[in-house]
Amino acid sequence: MTTSEPFSLDNDDLEQLTQISPTDEVSDGDDLPRDDDDSVLEEGRRLLEEAEAKLSAVERALARLDAGTYGLCEVCNAPIAPLLLSERPSRRGCELHEVAAEGAR
Ligand SMILES: [Zn+2]
Repeated sequence: MTTSEPFSLDNDDLEQLTQISPTDEVSDGDDLPRDDDDSVLEEGRRLLEEAEAKLSAVERALARLDAGTYGLCEVCNAPIAPLLLSERPSRRGCELHEVAAEGAR
């Protein structure tokens, strides 16, 4: 990495972003039904829900970090393997109790 700028988003990136517009893809064929907008909305909602779920999982992880129980299985209190935590830092259970811990919301 040779960049000295704090942000890697330069004008080229911005141009690419602004060129991507949903209307371009939908207006490809005028004889197609225009209910594509709904599926775009649905996809957006799904992504938003996914992001919110991840966010709340991270917030729970932070709360456990504060409480000093981060990295411990919520079921048996055994330390969760660092490899598993690096795969998914918001993980709440050890290898044996992952499903049980995730289920107990
Ligand atoms: Zn456990």
